[in-house]
Amino acid sequence: MKKIVVSLSVWMFVSVLAWAQPRQPKLVVGIVVDQMRYDYLYSFSHLYGNEGFARLLKNGQVFHDVHYNYIPTYTGPGHASVYTGTSPAVHGIAANDWFDVSTNKSVYCTDDASVTTVGNPTPGVSMSPANLLVPTVTDQFKSKPGNGKVIAVALKDRGAILPGGKKADAAYWFDAKTGNFISSTYYMQTLPKWVNDFNALKKWDTYLNSVWNLSLPVETYRNVPDETAFEKPLKGTTKAVFPYDLKEIRTKNTNPGLINTTPFGNSITLDFAREIIKNEKLGTDDVPDFISISFSSPDYIGHQFGPHSLELMDTYARFDRELAVFFKELDKNIGWDNLLLFITSDHGAADVPGFSKTGGYYNMGEYTDFLGKKFEKEYGKNIILKEENDQLYVDKNWIIQKGISWEKVHADIISWTDEKWFLGAFIPDRNLNCDMPEEICSRIQRGFARGRSGDIWIIARPNWLPVHYEGGGTTHGSPYVYDTHAPLIFTGMGITPSNRYERMSITDIAPTVASFLGLPLPAGATGKPVQLKP
Ligand SMILES: [Zn+2]
Repeated sequence: MKKIVVSLSVWMFVSVLAWAQPRQPKLVVGIVVDQMRYDYLYSFSHLYGNEGFARLLKNGQVFHDVHYNYIPTYTGPGHASVYTGTSPAVHGIAANDWFDVSTNKSVYCTDDASVTTVGNPTPGVSMSPANLLVPTVTDQFKSKPGNGKVIAVALKDRGAILPGGKKADAAYWFDAKTGNFISSTYYMQTLPKWVNDFNALKKWDTYLNSVWNLSLPVETYRNVPDETAFEKPLKGTTKAVFPYDLKEIRTKNTNPGLINTTPFGNSITLDFAREIIKNEKLGTDDVPDFISISFSSPDYIGHQFGPHSLELMDTYARFDRELAVFFKELDKNIGWDNLLLFITSDHGAADVPGFSKTGGYYNMGEYTDFLGKKFEKEYGKNIILKEENDQLYVDKNWIIQKGISWEKVHADIISWTDEKWFLGAFIPDRNLNCDMPEEICSRIQRGFARGRSGDIWIIARPNWLPVHYEGGGTTHGSPYVYDTHAPLIFTGMGITPSNRYERMSITDIAPTVASFLGLPLPAGATGKPVQLKP
């Protein structure tokens, strides 16, 4: 009898474990589309087929109101937040570049002086996720005994390195000087043979020997004008108009880096992702693997031509068809029901002021100089050490020594604020007198990484862009919806198609993936898991 009770309890224990242990996908595919606004799912739908974005919208769980909940809405922080489930305040990726007061130098988010380049004929100082302060969901995935590989790719180094986390088997990115996909000694000492073989094909060269023309009949684009004042012509051209003879332009542009600002940047990323899946045998057995693919070109193209350009529209038209082909391959080689796939973006983008007829351009350099003179006159010293990302790094020691209160600094800045350009200013470390709507102040708080971010944050008004963009194109970084509203779709095994309209935060993605896979939530996660199954 005792024996029966024991074996019954063992059986129950094992069954509870089995119940608590969800069936694992063979492959998790995490896709980030750099600068993809939520509305592009619909704004350009007349250019899409049935098997790309439309397939995801039809068969996936579509989250319609997902937002970045911090600023600055940039690529480095965006990728870190998607994969850690928290914001810069906790994960530490304060911006793409920040200022280090102690060394008086700018720091790039994936800088790491202790590692060197792999795959480049002249190895130099390279990159790693060393600046990331908390684990990613890919780290949690990798920590589970028996789980397989984690591999990340993007044209941008930060778009590959940050999603891969600390434990990735590999992260690869595109070297604009050689056209090679490269890595760093953080991951490996030499590139795998298949990567060298891929690089030897010089696919970038083939792509750049072509002409970029509209890929669909011109009427499909619904009379959007090709030549407008809102676009910045590509370096090596005088007008932002089709066709782009890349073979000619590359002689006057960065070669092979020109591919970044063409739709072929997506093509070559996908070519490389296919090689990863094939050669690293991802998703071929019951050992789950994870691939992170970030498409960087939509960001370069958006910056160059803006959200309402034919160039951006054609990029998405082509991308949709390339995704459709990729999805069919996943069907065939792995099976949709053996996948967990999600797609999102790292930030959005502003409408170009000339197009939206709202906003304009602000000159942060000019304003910083003006503030410096004011401080010099009123305080006897310009307390500003550096302006970066619209954040002022100030001489805190001197302020404290002189007994000047932060209340006074804040009040003075506000009184010197140019109201045409700026909504307000905030000192997040002191949480002082935020004079802007609460949601904007809390977005600053969540973005403030102590020791890395600036002390005083100046917030431009909606649709006001840095003066650098006056010549055309757009940017991002603000707390406004055009920069925070991201697409988010989950699809694959056991996920029922549905539309969900609850307000979610981008920091909910990593906890949701972790919970779906039965993994512990990433250590720093401030987001919450959302149930994908009924
Ligand atoms: Zn960007």
